[in-house]
Amino acid sequence: MRAIDQVSAMQAWSREVRGRDGLKVALVPTMGALHAGHLSLVTLARRHADRVVASVFVNPAQFDRADDLARYPRDLERDGALLAGAGADVLFAPDAAEIYPPGAQTFVTVEELAQPLCGAHRPGHFRGVATVVLKLFSIVQPDVAVFGEKDYQQLAVIRRMVRDLFLDVDVLAAPIVREADGLAMSSRNRHLAAAERAAARCLAAALAAGEAAVAAGERTAAAICAAATDELAREPLARVEYVALVDPDTLAAVTEVGERALLALAVWIGSTRLIDNRVLERRAP
Ligand code: AMP
Repeated sequence: MRAIDQVSAMQAWSREVRGRDGLKVALVPTMGALHAGHLSLVTLARRHADRVVASVFVNPAQFDRADDLARYPRDLERDGALLAGAGADVLFAPDAAEIYPPGAQTFVTVEELAQPLCGAHRPGHFRGVATVVLKLFSIVQPDVAVFGEKDYQQLAVIRRMVRDLFLDVDVLAAPIVREADGLAMSSRNRHLAAAERAAARCLAAALAAGEAAVAAGERTAAAICAAATDELAREPLARVEYVALVDPDTLAAVTEVGERALLALAVWIGSTRLIDNRVLERRAP
């Protein structure tokens, strides 16, 4: 696996591989501190392209809190070894100044999809995400890019940006990879102390409670969200940021489950913010 940290070298690599060799390139954008969830994206990318570029870039523009950026876990050496093992061909790990050179003043805003859920609690977050992803697309020129359903709203924002800007990139979604007890894998799980780690199971339990409510015949968002919120309330270390039932495509709040609805939540466990989601489907009676 080759490691690249300069934009110009990454562009040159892509020009050669895509242009001269005619190969298909996949991009897997990450912020590092990799886990099996990230590696599943690389595996999926491998199946859809001849070469896989994984980027590791802790994007300052998407952090709404300086303390979160400062303590975001970084472990580039270990990330490189994991990516090589998973079959990535290039690790692209630029510095912040390489991606945002002095004077950079162009940003991308996806308007409505970025408003609800995490967007309502993290000002500027999705503007930072969309901007860095567009920059990565224009540097790497991927044919395919892979994102995780763990960050469901992010995936929706990127898909919309690709559609609105006519970007020639196929966006693929990878399912959420979970720990044995159901906790969605996340780089931020590293911040959890032992008691917090045990408490963090409440997110998956809350989603399961919402799903069980639908299976038991509940249809209203109020009842389904209450089932999830009640489950979270049983965990003293959990502080709910939001629990929401939304349309899986528009992310607009729904009052009832139609065929499908997305149950999404953000919960603080101590000083760590965790998110999770599940698509709930109404089964035929
Ligand atoms: P991050 O490094 O947290 O910015 O995540 C990079 C990519 O990995 C994003 O597309 C995430 O949605 C995806 N990802 C993170 N955690 C998981 C997980 N547990 N399962 C699947 N994909 C994930």
